Amino acid sequence: MSTPPPGTPLPPLAGGADGPAALRPLLSAVLDALHDGALARGGPLPPGGPDAVTERLRELTLPVLPDTGTGAEEALRTLVRALAHGAADPADPLCVAHLHTPPLAVAAAADLAASVLNPSMDSWDQAPAASALEAQVTRTLAAEVYPHAPAPDALVTTGGTESNQLALLLARERHGPVQLVHGANAHHSLPRAAWLLGLPEPVAVPAPAGVIDLAALDAALTDLHHPLLVAATAGTTDTGRIDPLPAIADLCARHHAELHIDASYGGPLLFSDAHRSRLDGLDRAQSVTIDLHKLGWQPVAAGLLAVPATTCLTPVGHQADYLNADDDTEAGLPDLLGRSLRTTRRPDILKTAATLRALGRQGLADLVDRTCAAARHLADLIEKTPGLELHDRPTISTVLFRPTGATDDDIAAIRRTLLTQGRAVLGRARADGRLWLKATVLNPHTTPGDLETLLSLLPLPAPTPLPEGSSHR
Ligand SMILES: *Cc1c(COP(=O)(O)O)cnc(C)c1O
Repeated sequence: MSTPPPGTPLPPLAGGADGPAALRPLLSAVLDALHDGALARGGPLPPGGPDAVTERLRELTLPVLPDTGTGAEEALRTLVRALAHGAADPADPLCVAHLHTPPLAVAAAADLAASVLNPSMDSWDQAPAASALEAQVTRTLAAEVYPHAPAPDALVTTGGTESNQLALLLARERHGPVQLVHGANAHHSLPRAAWLLGLPEPVAVPAPAGVIDLAALDAALTDLHHPLLVAATAGTTDTGRIDPLPAIADLCARHHAELHIDASYGGPLLFSDAHRSRLDGLDRAQSVTIDLHKLGWQPVAAGLLAVPATTCLTPVGHQADYLNADDDTEAGLPDLLGRSLRTTRRPDILKTAATLRALGRQGLADLVDRTCAAARHLADLIEKTPGLELHDRPTISTVLFRPTGATDDDIAAIRRTLLTQGRAVLGRARADGRLWLKATVLNPHTTPGDLETLLSLLPLPAPTPLPEGSSHR
């Protein structure tokens, strides 16, 4: 039978004045399933590794497309519970592998409204208030990056990867085929964007201490042919280091090179009085990437590309008669198509707007400061723990460490064992020619006790016995 029996009600819609009443019981099922799934998991990720997770999911969720549907509440209960049970949950303080943020409740709740209203940001007649909100919020955030610019602006993106691509595209449109010069510490999306845009093969400048080597950058800029675009990083993915931005901006000025700064990770330090000065020089860049789904506690996606003036975005302008006909634009309908390379686009700004308003600058600064303090505390604990070696004090909230005497293979095995046991989600990063365990602390709720628990899970080398007759320390 290919159609439901007569009399079966149509599935309700989410929007309109009646939508909320239809949603309420479903949301209740979703919230219960999230709660039950997280309790059943009982840790930062499900134990057993990929085979066990896939098998459990199969058992719970097949068939994907039954002939007769199970109904909304059952479907939500089953799937949401299975997904929560099988999640690597960044709200668990022992889930610290990546720049994988625990979203704030206020942001997730706002995201529900975005799904219900479903504005699409490609034309004003699909998103009247949402487009006005996006304009307000992007200008406000861009002014945090460029406080002295007359008309700073920002595009909303899916994240650092898209922002970096747009930055290279804008540079190419200004100057033709720019030569990208980036640190060896830069994110892989930068050279990939150069490849995507058909730009010359990028040049990677060494970053032996985790940040761009200035003498090597100077030499590269002296040798290379123009046009040149330097990409610096404020918060590297591996170690959280910040390139020396003012010195790099000076070199770019001297060599007539443009500067893009990838502050995907470090950008939100701008909210904090205690940490803002680490980003000095940020506003000397032609464009700045910021990701609020990292140190901004937003659900994915929440990327931005900030520029000092709206006119910098002109190259992305585009016209399609059904979305922004010239006569509509002349009659005063805002022309939104030039705000992205995408067409249909979610109002991702709503969750960010709700977060900014709910927490205010002080609330955000407090989250930034707590997160950085938790990372410093983790570094303190590692320094105090015999048998553990700390790579370096954290610049933002990334901490690299390893049991003393461990080989690179040991490090990789420790990480996979903890994953398979479902006890901790640690990352890995190569620095100074060695592999390290990486904790990227993003959870502002992390307590000292959580960090002690994390370290207690590591297999420490047996202490070397004191030689016969030596006195105890
Ligand atoms: C995470 C990250 C990116 C990529 O951002 P996505 O949001 O994953 O696309 C780019 N640059 C840096 C420095 C990052 O940390």
